[in-house]
Amino acid sequence: MKHKITLIPGDGIGYEVSLAAKRCIEAAGVDIQWEEVSAGADAMEKTGEILPQAALDSIRKNRVCLKGPITTPIGTGFRSVNVAIRQALELYACVRPAKSYPGIKSRFKDIDLVIIRENSEDLYAGIEFEEGDPKTKALIRRIEEDTAKKIRPDSGITIKPISRFASERIARFAFRYALENNRKKVTCVHKANIMKFTDGLFLKTCREVSRDFAGKINFEDTIVDNMSMQLVTKPNKYDLLLLPNLYGDIISDLCAGLIGGLGVAPGANIGESAAVFEAVHGSAPKYKGQNKVNPTAMILSGVLMLRHIKEEPAAMKLENAVKEVIAEGKFVTYDLKADPLDPSCVGTSEMADAVINKLKKA
Ligand code: NAD
Repeated sequence: MKHKITLIPGDGIGYEVSLAAKRCIEAAGVDIQWEEVSAGADAMEKTGEILPQAALDSIRKNRVCLKGPITTPIGTGFRSVNVAIRQALELYACVRPAKSYPGIKSRFKDIDLVIIRENSEDLYAGIEFEEGDPKTKALIRRIEEDTAKKIRPDSGITIKPISRFASERIARFAFRYALENNRKKVTCVHKANIMKFTDGLFLKTCREVSRDFAGKINFEDTIVDNMSMQLVTKPNKYDLLLLPNLYGDIISDLCAGLIGGLGVAPGANIGESAAVFEAVHGSAPKYKGQNKVNPTAMILSGVLMLRHIKEEPAAMKLENAVKEVIAEGKFVTYDLKADPLDPSCVGTSEMADAVINKLKKA
């Protein structure tokens, strides 16, 4: 079956890694018609808009998108194209597997974790009050009246909404994901001891949902600070982590570190009507145009995408090809060499070529 898929190459290193991933996905033998649209710096140059409507329309129509990383401009007032896409399309579930591949230097072996992050609420909702603004002053007065707590008048404020609805939606997603992907345990990560009405609600809702899966999936919870310590000492204790937005963001980078770095960490943002597949890493602007960075995270995001569109044999073939190239350690980028200055490292496109050669032999 032919699939129509939106491709957003992104900016910074985005173009290089998405092109590498696109070539590998095609070599896995799946019939895809790509609809390329721009967003980010690239779109700004071409259309004057950082997130053109055409990009969102294309994802809505095709329901699946492979997206390269996009730089968040600092000081322009635009928060993040990445967050805007997730919000506009209600991609409420962020799925980030963290899996060890033999050949990657990392402190731990045999890690096989999945991080499921709520993508729509929390401090990421973008509800912010600037220091000194009259609305901020009014809010501070209101809070002081209602809570009898003092807030310094020169404060900025970010609001942290967490709802029962979104908590239940992500918890059900996580438990269903666990069932479908042969996971045994869900660990809810929170700070409910301090933020009783937000994290507390998240935990309570996850616990309620867990009862519907009793006997099939185990449930436990851990406070986020303890979780950070546990993960860097005993990561193999965990199976699937379920977190609100901000902790999910931080812990997924931590988990990327456990498996060898951002260059190998894939991700997906999934909603009821669309899904966007993208690496955990950003646009690393300092490496732009150098054909230097690791395409693995983007290629593995492509593997997740192939699974999502029910092309499991191609997904498996592509994942195995990546695995073999990494295990051989010959045609890999600098970050996968024991010494990053090793002159035998290859560039982004050459590593993709090595994956394609493996696919041809498979
Ligand atoms: P980054 O992930 O772009 O890069 C941090 C460092 O990680 C790089 O300097 C590099 O050493 C390493 N790295 C990243 N990707 C790599 C790869 N493929 N291979 C090898 N090494 C790699 O993080 P940053 O520098 O904090 O962010 C740069 C920009 O990207 C910011 O504007 C940020 O907002 C944006 N960003 C976008 C996304 C997204 O598009 N989803 C995600 C995170 C950050």
